[in-house]
Amino acid sequence: MTQDTSRPAVHLRIGAERLAIGSGGIHQHIDPSSGRVDAEIPLAGKAEVDQAVQTAHEAFAGWRCTPPAERRRLLLRLADLIEANAGEFARRGTLDNGTPLTVSAGFVPMSVEWTRYYAGWADKTSGDLTASFGNGGELGYTLAQPYGVIGVIITWNGPLISLAMKIPAALAAGNTVVVKPSELTPFCGELFADLVEEAGIPAGVVNILPGDPQAGAALVAHPLVQKVTFTGGPATARKILASCAEQMKPAVLELGGKSANLIFEDADLTTACTHGTFMSVATLSGQGCALPTRMLVQRTVYDDVIARVAEIAKYITVGDPFDRATVSGPVVNQAALDRILATIDQAKRDGARLITGGSRIGGPLADGYFLEPTVFADVDPQSDLAQQEVFGPVLAITPFDTEEEAIAIANNTPYGLSAYVQTNDLRRAHRLAEALVCGEVLVNGAANLAVHRPFGGLGISGFGKEGGRHGIEEFLRVKSVGIA
Ligand code: NAD
Repeated sequence: MTQDTSRPAVHLRIGAERLAIGSGGIHQHIDPSSGRVDAEIPLAGKAEVDQAVQTAHEAFAGWRCTPPAERRRLLLRLADLIEANAGEFARRGTLDNGTPLTVSAGFVPMSVEWTRYYAGWADKTSGDLTASFGNGGELGYTLAQPYGVIGVIITWNGPLISLAMKIPAALAAGNTVVVKPSELTPFCGELFADLVEEAGIPAGVVNILPGDPQAGAALVAHPLVQKVTFTGGPATARKILASCAEQMKPAVLELGGKSANLIFEDADLTTACTHGTFMSVATLSGQGCALPTRMLVQRTVYDDVIARVAEIAKYITVGDPFDRATVSGPVVNQAALDRILATIDQAKRDGARLITGGSRIGGPLADGYFLEPTVFADVDPQSDLAQQEVFGPVLAITPFDTEEEAIAIANNTPYGLSAYVQTNDLRRAHRLAEALVCGEVLVNGAANLAVHRPFGGLGISGFGKEGGRHGIEEFLRVKSVGIA
């Protein structure tokens, strides 16, 4: 069967309206596999942002009063519909940004799970009793209340999962949303909006506007937007925070990372090297915020690990993302390709040892933004490659001698998103879970983005959480009540 690669039409989705034109102009969507324009995407301008926020504001009155069990039912229905549209979501994920079909297919069950999980929270949020009459003569309790309109701004690397990590939790808590996906990845958002409608979620509760950074800025600055949840880079996050500061508006910021992967001599090296290589230079072509991009290896197994990683990296199939044999697709655009190649050149100048890769791929892939999976060893922990997020398929390997040294290197970047530990020593795993300065520690291949665990960083990786109880609490204001 030939693969359907037709590009779906994209609209601005405001309430029940579908606008084919926006005042923000048009974005020419480029297929990263060919470098060719493959669709024209209408962009929201300030006028449509204002209209969408007003619509969400009006829908809030009804949605917050919708019985929690009904919100749960509607979100469960949405989850079922996402599941029923798995094939189309996988296809659109691949059209959006060149993620291999098998990988974008894998994001669908995760997104279903995030949606079901937060559907389940809709009727389980509650306040606390803080004091009873017997305790000082006053009744004290808290109310957990929705904010109102949430401004949702996401990036391009996981267009479906990013929607699923934010929208269901916001809705379960009783908020309404205006969502601005990345202009680079418009196709998943359109289908998500279709399914929100089909699920019976009232018009105006979810509004999705393809738009550029100006539309994002207008959304953040809108006075009716009560809170912002953002996934993207630290530079944009600073602008968002500055804008939020004007109105004392709270924000959740899910930003980048330079996550360390500590491999100790007692680890199962076969598993550790396979996981560490795939997760850094194959998965999403390295374009993932929480990927283990710094491999810190105990010196006693350093040469062995480098040899294994080089061997595994050579077998990663880079190519047409619609080919089911493809493990790694292109990077997202020309700017990303240029930035990653410049980083590789700088790493060489800084004295890192190139083990494998390092170049753009030519031949039949020459028109697309394809890069060889690239591995550097002997990377100076102070160098740019070890300190700056690359967001491409480039792994930095650095040796260490002792656990203390490994912790010091791991903690010595401005980021703090994830850390990975490979060891068979349970005591060491617990010690490191305490000592690593970051938002999560994943030991021996534990899964990323498990919905029951709060995810989110510190330092320039941002603040706030998605996932678990903490994830829904981000969308609830606590009000304190005292009755004499
Ligand atoms: P980006 O910050 O350039 O853009 C992200 C989004 O913000 C886009 O929708 C963009 O249009 C919008 N935007 C840009 N300027 C804006 C402004 N002034 N006001 C409001 N919105 C604005 O990020 P990017 O380059 O698209 O994404 C890559 C970054 O995202 C990396 O740093 C990566 O690590 C991070 N990321 C983080 C997570 C996470 O959950 N922690 C997940 C994926 C990606």
